[in-house]
Amino acid sequence: MSLLPIVHYPGTVLLSVAEPVGDDDFDGDLAILVENMFDTMADAGGVGLAAPQVGVSRRLFVMDTPETDERPRERHVLINPEIVSVEGEQTGDEGCLSFPGLFQTVTREMRVIARAQNINGEQVEIDVQDLAARCILHETDHCDGIVFLDRMTPLKRQFAKRKIKQLQKTGKWNQN
Ligand SMILES: [Zn+2]
Repeated sequence: MSLLPIVHYPGTVLLSVAEPVGDDDFDGDLAILVENMFDTMADAGGVGLAAPQVGVSRRLFVMDTPETDERPRERHVLINPEIVSVEGEQTGDEGCLSFPGLFQTVTREMRVIARAQNINGEQVEIDVQDLAARCILHETDHCDGIVFLDRMTPLKRQFAKRKIKQLQKTGKWNQN
């Protein structure tokens, strides 16, 4: 198991549109990257982690949301993810491994159908709700250089930016 360093906001790679994973890129190196991303996410206590967050500007992410009374566990790698359709709305606290210590209210869609490639390059479609839907939207945003700060209301964003300044002063955020 090998843990990857997580890039913290405002790392440039987090604010850049990531490149698609090409057909020739489905090899052992990609499998190792994905495995390391799953380990890094679990170690950091996250439910989603996108490649740009570990400094790799590629369109892929891993997710692992826990089982609840109503929903199954959703553990997937989504490569070249695309949101096919969305439905409903949910408002709740959201965090991000690139913003350690910051949690803020974000409104997202309640249900998401997404299409992506799996680790073997095969097309898969997944249909999820609640936290897993929030996670897919959040992580797909990372592939587009969008961070959850961009999804907050202006007032919440103002609060969040003030909090980020405090968190950065603690020295626990890397500067890049
Ligand atoms: Zn994030």
